[in-house]
Amino acid sequence: MSNTLEDWVPAELLRDRGLIDGVWTAADTGAEFEVTNPASGEVLARVPDMGAPETSVAIEAAERAQRLWAARTASERAEVLFRWRDLVLENQDALARLLTLEQGKPFAEARGEIGYAASFLRFYGEEARRIRGETIPSASADTRIVVLRQPIGVAACITPWNFPAAMITRKAAPAIAAGCAVVMKPAELTPLSALALAALAERAGMPAGVLNIVTGGPQAIGAELCASPAVRALSFTGSTDVGRLLSAQCAPTVKKLSLELGGNAPFIVFDDADLDAAVEGAVLSKYRHSGQTCVCTNRFLVQDGIYDAFTERFTSRVAQLTVGNGMLDGVQVGPLIDDRALGKVQAHVADALDNGAKLLTGGEHLGGTFYAPTVLGEATTGMRLATEETFGPVAALFRFGEEAEAIQLANDTEYGLGGYFYTRDIGRVWRVAEQLETGMVGINSAMLSVEIAPFGGVKQSGIGREGSHHGIDEFVELKYLAFGGI
Ligand code: NAD
Repeated sequence: MSNTLEDWVPAELLRDRGLIDGVWTAADTGAEFEVTNPASGEVLARVPDMGAPETSVAIEAAERAQRLWAARTASERAEVLFRWRDLVLENQDALARLLTLEQGKPFAEARGEIGYAASFLRFYGEEARRIRGETIPSASADTRIVVLRQPIGVAACITPWNFPAAMITRKAAPAIAAGCAVVMKPAELTPLSALALAALAERAGMPAGVLNIVTGGPQAIGAELCASPAVRALSFTGSTDVGRLLSAQCAPTVKKLSLELGGNAPFIVFDDADLDAAVEGAVLSKYRHSGQTCVCTNRFLVQDGIYDAFTERFTSRVAQLTVGNGMLDGVQVGPLIDDRALGKVQAHVADALDNGAKLLTGGEHLGGTFYAPTVLGEATTGMRLATEETFGPVAALFRFGEEAEAIQLANDTEYGLGGYFYTRDIGRVWRVAEQLETGMVGINSAMLSVEIAPFGGVKQSGIGREGSHHGIDEFVELKYLAFGGI
């Protein structure tokens, strides 16, 4: 099977330059870095290895463009987002192939991600016209109070490799709808999807400088974005460690921060759960994208009475999953993103087995960065996978007795992004939903990500929300107008 990009993706979508002020640009030094296919290790493309100087030029371009963009009507901004969305959907298969080649997830999942990416362009095109201000009844007869919601200015966006397309639009669409301009730094492992999306934005009529894409070294680009007083908001999705670092780097210029960080999602199966639904949900929430999403289950907490039945049914479903190159039909689990990710998965499994976990299926390295879908029984809280995000296709099953114990175990983590539970008891639904310390809760449901709902975490999983009408708030400022002499 050919893994050459040109065989799969139209030339218009293959970009090997960054986009600054509407110009496809190389690094000042001419330096480039390689983008590889995680399924085969082949080099797919070389893109510019930019740093602080190019980032600074992009910020200046964004500042100029933002003033003009904010002066356009909301309908005009919406039209550009709608055209961009149409072009993304017209190119859905090509964008999905590009995504699978640079990132590894199965083609069907990649296609789903492109649809999800497009959904933000439509939703925020619609929301552009609903960025309403307010009037507040004033304290005296001769005064009035009005509140405007204005674009914050230049927004910096830094995205991860696990959703190379959807994280671009989840950030860019609300920012652009609000009248901001964006300097985007995509993950260095997966910049090609971001560049392809930018090519379509350009074709949709996005003015020069409103969406800039800077590829290259994260430290240098990140430091420049954080240090610049012209950048008024930073929207970051990635690990908690890098989120903490960026918060500190933004402190001197006091930026508005939106941080979507790591998770350690619990998935609780109570004795009264619908077993079939719980097993289906468990497979979906764990093995989607080889376990490499921030809301993938990290810990299955299973009540004593259903533990054996759940474990048997779940393990037999997991053992049937097909692992392979995501470009092949029928593949359900692709490779891990790189050797570092593979090493972490192997270390977590070895640590669990050393500490008494039972290997029920998998536990094998399958060559390259492929790892067999794995289930570990009798996991306990002292194991690394209880406290750290494994980010791979490994399910750890913990036993519990009472509801209160499940809640205590579920909340025993510094993270608070997603959580799931399965039960048919309506009273328990409310009790558990209210007590889980997470920003999102799936109740008899394993799917959380949808553009119309607020996505985000509590505790050390982040600050702010993306998606839904709340997503716009990250990119607007309130301005209070006090009118006197009336
Ligand atoms: P990462 O933090 O290593 O990288 C994320 C982005 O930050 C990349 O673009 C990277 O280049 C950049 N980066 C790294 N170091 C930087 C620095 N010093 N300065 C500026 N930028 C820097 O994370 P990752 O490995 O790409 O992604 C996996 C992590 O992201 C997981 O922890 C996962 O849970 C989290 N994640 C969270 C969400 C969410 O919405 N909460 C979504 C997807 C992934």
